[in-house]
Amino acid sequence: MASFKYAIHIHQDNSNVFDQKHPPGNFAPFAGIYRCVVCGKEIGIAQGHTLPPQNHHQHPNGRGRVEWQLLVQAHSY
Ligand SMILES: [Zn+2]
Repeated sequence: MASFKYAIHIHQDNSNVFDQKHPPGNFAPFAGIYRCVVCGKEIGIAQGHTLPPQNHHQHPNGRGRVEWQLLVQAHSY
């Protein structure tokens, strides 16, 4: 689970960009932290990069494929 110390630097955003699920190997629409919806594994990714591929990590049989969901969006302004 992602953590932080100073809440003053993070604000809650109800945008639907945090509800979208992205297949492995796809273009990451935003820089930030993504989590796998199946196992909770988190990765940081820079803007313009692609999400890790399906073989990035393995799930036990029957738990489903890797899917990435934006957890924290990084802003560069
Ligand atoms: Zn996973």
